[in-house]
Amino acid sequence: MSHACQKCIHPDCAAEYDLYQVLPKCPACGNLLDIIYDWDQLRIPSHPMMLGRAAWPSGGMGAISGVWRFGDLLPFAPLEKRVSIGEGHTQLRVSPNAAAYAGIKKETFRLQYEGLNPSGSFKDNGMAGAFSHANMVGAKVAACASTGNTSASLAAFASASGLMRAIIFIGDGKISYGKLSQALDYGAVTLLVQGDFDDAMARVQEVSAREGIYLVNSVNPFRLEGQKTTMFRVLEGLNWQVPDWVVCPGGNLGNSSAFAKALYELYDLGIITKLPRIAIVNSSGAPTFSRLVNDHGLKWNGGRVDDSIIDSYYAKLDADNVKASTIASAIEINRPVNLKKALRAIDRLNGVALDVSDQAILDAKANIARDGLGCEPASAASVAGAKQLVEKGVIDRDATVVCILTGHQLKDPHATVAYHSFSEEDLAKEYGRFGIATSKYGNRPISVANSADDIVAKIRQTLG
Ligand SMILES: *Cc1c(COP(=O)(O)O)cnc(C)c1O
Ligand SMILES: [Zn+2]
Repeated sequence: MSHACQKCIHPDCAAEYDLYQVLPKCPACGNLLDIIYDWDQLRIPSHPMMLGRAAWPSGGMGAISGVWRFGDLLPFAPLEKRVSIGEGHTQLRVSPNAAAYAGIKKETFRLQYEGLNPSGSFKDNGMAGAFSHANMVGAKVAACASTGNTSASLAAFASASGLMRAIIFIGDGKISYGKLSQALDYGAVTLLVQGDFDDAMARVQEVSAREGIYLVNSVNPFRLEGQKTTMFRVLEGLNWQVPDWVVCPGGNLGNSSAFAKALYELYDLGIITKLPRIAIVNSSGAPTFSRLVNDHGLKWNGGRVDDSIIDSYYAKLDADNVKASTIASAIEINRPVNLKKALRAIDRLNGVALDVSDQAILDAKANIARDGLGCEPASAASVAGAKQLVEKGVIDRDATVVCILTGHQLKDPHATVAYHSFSEEDLAKEYGRFGIATSKYGNRPISVANSADDIVAKIRQTLG
């Protein structure tokens, strides 16, 4: 192989493909593809502080990219083909209130705030990878089906770079205004497909194949290369001291898969000398990964995953007409495309899978926000998951724990306003189907008369 290639994850196939091929999955066996590197040829600096220093001419895009400054560790694209919109300027933050809520010592608890990306979610890390690959192969049009954040990211990359047009497929009525507004404002061709997300997904695949459009959907392995960089920034924030736990929400399971790949590649390169454990947190309204791992014994099994367990689980979902249903719309997914890579992640990192209720997600979200960190509901599954694992004795309260906040608060302000200001009755009416009935950590707005006397009285009463 040259310095890098695409490789099937199934050990009995292990077919390799050139980087310039555009493949949704392994043409030989239908499994997922990885990007793998010949690290000996690439000669990676062994000290983390030296990473990326040589890779960018000064003033290049790498200087503004929190993805490409780690380009040494995802070297699939030639320098001149790499695209950035200034993604990955995210922060590892202390969060004493959320720490106390989760039951972890505040000194060892951190939140990685990926909502600070240009389009407001971690998807920009992955899009830097996939969009650069689209640029490598000369694509002029890129498309995706999305519940919102992937489409917002693609639309931003297309307009900011001017390199190609973006076409967004959305299930009609299935997207929050925060996310839809981004696709429209960035000028993407926005198609409201009469149907749900699954219909939009099926159509985007059909149309892309027919028209030769580059697809940036979640199976794209180049996206996961970009998403590795969240872990590099976490480790950088910890002075390259490896935490005990990384806790992240699980939807299509791209992030968790990418985090694991980042970590064991660093380990294999000798840049870190221990591996953290990973916890992947579903919503109980979309608990496929948690159920398959915890109740059905599904395992990575050296890459020979027992497909019959997955097939029968999905057949039962269909037979019972079960649909994913959670307020955390970014993880409202019952058929996660990166399932097998996430099994590999928990295998390599001695990880766990779990699911948390939507009530627990919103309660956690309110506690995160009290530290000044606003996130969308899906993100808060990480902290809700950490809390559950502490209660079960799986995570020690002295452990070093990093929870990933995947998307910004303003992606879905309706859920936040409802939680804080609705009466219990209205909350149950609107969100009872998700099992949300109380706003224990709610911060109700106060109605006041148009009078300084009344306002002063209410302020004194409130501040005590
Ligand atoms: C996409 C997304 C997720 C789910 O991530 P996966 O990589 O699909 O598991 C979680 N939170 C937010 C905000 C997202 O946009
Ligand atoms: Zn294969």
